[in-house]
Amino acid sequence: MTSVTIVTGGSRGIGAATARRLAAAGHDIAIGYRRDHTAAKAVLDDIQATGRRGLAVPADTTDPDQVQRLFDAAADLGPVTGLVNNAGITSPIGPFTELRTDDLRQVVDVNLIGYVLCAQQAARRMTHGGAIVNVSSAAATLGSPGEYIHYAAVKAATDTLTLGLAKELAPHGIRVNAVAPGIIRTDIHALSGVPDRPDSAAGRIPLGRAGEPDEVAAAIAWLLGPDASYTAGAVLRVAGGL
Ligand code: NAP
Repeated sequence: MTSVTIVTGGSRGIGAATARRLAAAGHDIAIGYRRDHTAAKAVLDDIQATGRRGLAVPADTTDPDQVQRLFDAAADLGPVTGLVNNAGITSPIGPFTELRTDDLRQVVDVNLIGYVLCAQQAARRMTHGGAIVNVSSAAATLGSPGEYIHYAAVKAATDTLTLGLAKELAPHGIRVNAVAPGIIRTDIHALSGVPDRPDSAAGRIPLGRAGEPDEVAAAIAWLLGPDASYTAGAVLRVAGGL
């Protein structure tokens, strides 16, 4: 049976690298994204260039109706067998006392509620089994002091979500795991106000450099695939030793 995998936030960064890698590994792919149509189209072109089928669906993962539409669209490719819960945001880096309530709510909305809504759709639809990978963060165990504690706390919730879902869904043939990236070279750092963070933080990373999106994509692809058939509830750290 063909693997049909949904990658949320598949237009840029880790999600785009994952969509490209999974297509090369033989998955048909539906990517979700929020607003960057040009970036989504470029990823879609790359998916189709591998000979796999692809869809790019604008879908804000915080909206249950849009999530449902993403899963309905993906079903046109065949029964959905994989979900990469990846669409995520940070907020401006800074001290905890400066955190704005709007930023806090948005981080919870996208990184937690969005993941839950997508996992729920996947769990309901994967009636013949499947695999879910949640993209967490090394921040979950580091706490991100002086940067974004609220984001770290939400990523810790992602790890707990992974554990609970893994146990509840394993009897239904659905494996749930997570990856916890460290500092990866994507646009997310510019959005948090520190575009050069992958280079400026390199000195405190044991491997001495930031990671590349494809290095995270490789871990996600392994967790989704048959070589991880006995792996459930794992949080695989891809953080250069951080
Ligand atoms: P990125 O380059 O900023 O890309 C984010 C992606 O998510 C884009 O495709 C964006 O689509 C999409 N997105 C954002 N909000 C969305 C929403 N509400 N609904 C649907 N799509 C939405 O980010 P990234 O660095 O690849 O991060 C991906 C995941 O890895 C996130 O969960 C992040 O927390 C996690 N992570 C990243 C790092 C890192 O250092 N980069 C480290 C640890 C964990 P549009 O472009 O259309 O807005």
